[in-house]
Amino acid sequence: MRAVSLHRDVLVATSAVLQVNCVIVRGSVEGRDADGRRSASGARDAEQENPVRVIEPGGEVIAAAETFVIDSPVLPEELETLPALLEQARFPAPSGLLATHGDWDHLLGRLAFPGVALGCAESTAERLRASPGAAQRELRAFDGDLLIERPRPLALGSVQALPVPGRCAVGDRELELYPAEGHTVDGMAIWIPWARVLVAGDYLSTVEPPTLNDGGDRDAYLATLERLRPLVASAEHVVPGHGPVLDSARALEVLEENVAALA
Ligand SMILES: [Zn+2]
Repeated sequence: MRAVSLHRDVLVATSAVLQVNCVIVRGSVEGRDADGRRSASGARDAEQENPVRVIEPGGEVIAAAETFVIDSPVLPEELETLPALLEQARFPAPSGLLATHGDWDHLLGRLAFPGVALGCAESTAERLRASPGAAQRELRAFDGDLLIERPRPLALGSVQALPVPGRCAVGDRELELYPAEGHTVDGMAIWIPWARVLVAGDYLSTVEPPTLNDGGDRDAYLATLERLRPLVASAEHVVPGHGPVLDSARALEVLEENVAALA
């Protein structure tokens, strides 16, 4: 697994198989003093339980913060390493997991963080409800082919459906959620505004041509590309579900190529 920092608050870890990207995002909690206590002037309604202090490598306390993990690496040892990766980067342990869509290879976060709730678009929650055990079956088939053994089976827990389009608070920051259907029947793209990072889900990949999986739809795919276009144009980094992280110009080229391929 390869991990790089895209921004002070954004890491991307790329799995050695399928080149699946896992994005780790930290939102600071403003209005807290250095110990994570609520300061009188910065009181907010959204109560954060046990905010964690973020300590920069120099030992300086910058703020309390909250972390979300979006999608997942695939291999057992990569999932096992993930908590240590966050710790090393001085990101607090995640308080939430997010999945861009319901394909099994993006749903493995709970193997790394079993107690943490998984949030996803309502369309994905619906898909998971409609085919219970599908992700587990596909994971078992993949593991069977590659002779991969896991310490425990995948349990998705009670999946939290998020309204999309919508916003999702991480610390005092907000992630923006955009519908991203077409590759599959479900999904969302996640825009991290303060870092200008777009987590696209299975779109805009240089290693995977536009693919219509079960429930995928060409018109919905094209609509998603057009919906993402302005975000891609203003992005510092675009993280596809699989393959290299792209800058805005390259991602716009890929977007055009995908539109042409689907036309
Ligand atoms: Zn995928």
